[in-house]
Amino acid sequence: MPSSEFRRVALVTGAASGIGHALAEEFSAQDYAVALVDLSENHTRSAAQAIAERTGNETCWCVADVRDPDASARAMDKVCAKLRAPSVLVNNAGIVVRQKARLEDLPAGHLDEMMAIHVNGTLNWSRLVLPAMRAAGFGRIINISSVNAIAAVPYRIGYVTAKKAIRGVTEALALETARAGITVNAIAPGYILTDVLKKRAEAGILDRRAIADRTPVGRWGTPDEVAKAALYLASKDASFVTGTTLVVDGGLSIRGDAGEDLDNAPT
Ligand code: NAP
Repeated sequence: MPSSEFRRVALVTGAASGIGHALAEEFSAQDYAVALVDLSENHTRSAAQAIAERTGNETCWCVADVRDPDASARAMDKVCAKLRAPSVLVNNAGIVVRQKARLEDLPAGHLDEMMAIHVNGTLNWSRLVLPAMRAAGFGRIINISSVNAIAAVPYRIGYVTAKKAIRGVTEALALETARAGITVNAIAPGYILTDVLKKRAEAGILDRRAIADRTPVGRWGTPDEVAKAALYLASKDASFVTGTTLVVDGGLSIRGDAGEDLDNAPT
């Protein structure tokens, strides 16, 4: 266990479910004290309790909408009082595709909503953690982007635009903080089988088998595969890695063919 002076605190937004839950759990398993921030009081509290029971390490939970700077600031005060200021922030809160539609058919406000959650939320929380990170001369900010920010997909323009913007946030903030011992990186997950995407597949919005076939490793990713990448970026070993996007997608984004059979080479 690290000494209390160097007690590592990781804060994860959108931590009550899916990738965020796995992130919180992996950090906790590595002896970080973990703060979980999400929208639902019940889900966030029970996620924090379950993780603490599993790992034996301290957790705390807060309800805040990442779009709301005041609610986020109140949540940050609670985390500082209960644990201490985070040395690691993972900006994970987001909404995955709810519907597919052409730009002209999207409901009013959709683009604003996508930008507010993914971009404003990331900026709001980064702004909150930076003063203590600067004072400590150490910090790690990890922004969860998407493979859709590397290779775009049609009919999800709000999501693609917001996730591409996270790259800009990551690079600009990495430059602002590089001399302060703080790194800022993004992770671009491919298709990760979280409950919400299982439901999207069941609703016919995503084709589960086609995505597995199209992904070079032949399957969907798991939330803990994203969390493991975040652990690396948060570590002291990653001190020379900043401003980058680590793609965790089973090779999906490098694929240039139209669907070759990767199991059977031509004879
Ligand atoms: P998820 O299970 O729905 O988790 C997202 C969490 O964020 C939910 O608990 C959600 O709460 C919360 N949240 C949503 N809006 C929020 C807000 N305004 N303030 C605070 N919390 C908020 O989805 P996931 O699949 O784990 O995705 C997590 C992140 O990874 C997202 O940023 C997503 O874009 C990204 N990502 C996912 C995949 C994938 O394949 N799953 C791929 C690439 C990138 P509610 O459930 O109450 O809304």
